[in-house]
Amino acid sequence: MKWSLKELYTGFDSKEFLDDFGSLDTAIEAYSNWADENLRSKDNPLEKIETFINYSISLSKSFSKLMSFSHLTNAVEAKNETSLQYLDKLAVKYTQLTKPNVQFKNFIKNVENLDDLIQSSELLKEHDFFLKEIKKETQYLLSEKEEVLISKMQNTGSRAWANLQNMLASTLLVDINIDGEDKQLPLPVVRNLAHDKDPAIRKKAYEAELESYKKIEESSAASLNGIKGEVITTSELRGFESPLEETLFNSRMDKETLDAMLTAMREFLPAFHKYYRKKAELLGHENGLPFYDIFAPMGEVNRSFTYEEAMDYIIENFRTFSDKLADYTQNAYDKNWLDIEPREGKRGGAFCSNLHAIGESRILSNFNGSFSNMTTLAHELGHGYHGFNLKDETVLNAGYPMPIAETASIFCETIVVNAALKEASDEEALSILESSISDAGQVIVDIMSRYIFETELFERRKTHALSVNELKEIMLDAQKQAFGNGLDHNVLHPYMWVNKTHYYSAGRNFYNFPYAFGLLFSKGLYAEYLNSGEEFVSNYDDLLNATGKNNIVDVAKRMDIDVRDPEFFRNSLRLIEKDIEKFIELASK
Ligand SMILES: [Zn+2]
Repeated sequence: MKWSLKELYTGFDSKEFLDDFGSLDTAIEAYSNWADENLRSKDNPLEKIETFINYSISLSKSFSKLMSFSHLTNAVEAKNETSLQYLDKLAVKYTQLTKPNVQFKNFIKNVENLDDLIQSSELLKEHDFFLKEIKKETQYLLSEKEEVLISKMQNTGSRAWANLQNMLASTLLVDINIDGEDKQLPLPVVRNLAHDKDPAIRKKAYEAELESYKKIEESSAASLNGIKGEVITTSELRGFESPLEETLFNSRMDKETLDAMLTAMREFLPAFHKYYRKKAELLGHENGLPFYDIFAPMGEVNRSFTYEEAMDYIIENFRTFSDKLADYTQNAYDKNWLDIEPREGKRGGAFCSNLHAIGESRILSNFNGSFSNMTTLAHELGHGYHGFNLKDETVLNAGYPMPIAETASIFCETIVVNAALKEASDEEALSILESSISDAGQVIVDIMSRYIFETELFERRKTHALSVNELKEIMLDAQKQAFGNGLDHNVLHPYMWVNKTHYYSAGRNFYNFPYAFGLLFSKGLYAEYLNSGEEFVSNYDDLLNATGKNNIVDVAKRMDIDVRDPEFFRNSLRLIEKDIEKFIELASK
């Protein structure tokens, strides 16, 4: 049930790890010297661009293997000091690439006939989008000196703050009394109790969780203020209107698309409020759902799975979509690419890390056998499958933007959920439908609250560092706006900003709307799949393959979808609204 990392390295003290780590310096130096000698003059642009591409590919491979091994080790052993040391050392070395990279960007900025050059070389043609993106980025580029300085300062700034908060949150022990016994449990274990059948345990877990955050609230607030403050400074320096504009730029998404989506989402919030109120009523609450019952399991039948059962079920249903998807998953299972059970020192939640350098992926979960844990596995495997479709592209064509990142994952989740719905009795259908609406609620309504929170956080952080109380207040206010009368306003979650690690990544601001985009884009694609069947399957793989070298509007166009039109998002939301109506109908029986 633990993942295998030996395909990367057998250990920090292995010869391979030490050799690769040791040869980094030479590789970086060679690249830096080349850049210094060649990128100051404009001659021979074709040859220089080709050399740069080759350097980038090989350096990226060396770095990503070492970084992935350190990062993945740290994800399951928060206190592993060696992994932390290497993460730190690698971050410092990575910083040394800033200068030559900036030199290259400045070089590209001054290349006048870039289009013609691209057409004259196979290697450049292959990296057409990548090179044009660099040219676009140069409008926000600072001087070489400034870029190097910022990059170095981030190691002692935002990254250090993020490390601190990660360490505190992943080692936080929650005091809780269960069955008359006082226990200290890791945070992810306690958060998983939100899915418990026993209402008393859900409530107790919620209260214990909130209580435990007091131990790290001040340090988390300081981290958050440090990180968001830095983001505002650098974003402004680069000439972005706001961190949101910078995020959209980095996401290859335009404001028109975001607005189209938010418009549609706001229109459908009342449908979700109806769902939450119905759930509250079923659980015997009068004033809307208390926060601790958001994830309460519903219905008589509660499917549970062992890890083996979950994987069998996923593979069987993935096969109805395509053998390629099912075989990928079987292989991941057979080769131990997954780390399953929660344990102390292991990170909470779930994630997938695509290891392009070795053409594999690794998945972390905190699996406790629930239906929703099973769908989470399907979700993460979808991320892995996305990476799998990109493994034959060069690494420069394999990076996709955040909003597209959730497409394949949610698509895979939908396959499994719909399969479960089909074979379900009325009682089971109620439970599965409910769980699926609940997940959608997280992605539409909770995400809306996070978007509102982060917008407000950035606004206030411009003038001052926010106090713990202020952060709690704006979180409560955001939840009230998004969840409306669906939730009991006296039992919300003022500490979600301590819990969600996304807020603590300086490079990933507003890592909320991409989830909503992913869900709604996926739902739209899934509807398309139901319409066109077989033909869709290969188009879908092509679409995933294109995500590393297109902006979002163009990726969607491949499937004749206009993401600047709110109507596209409304159609996806109508599918969820239908589920809500069906749930209310079943629940009223
Ligand atoms: Zn995901």
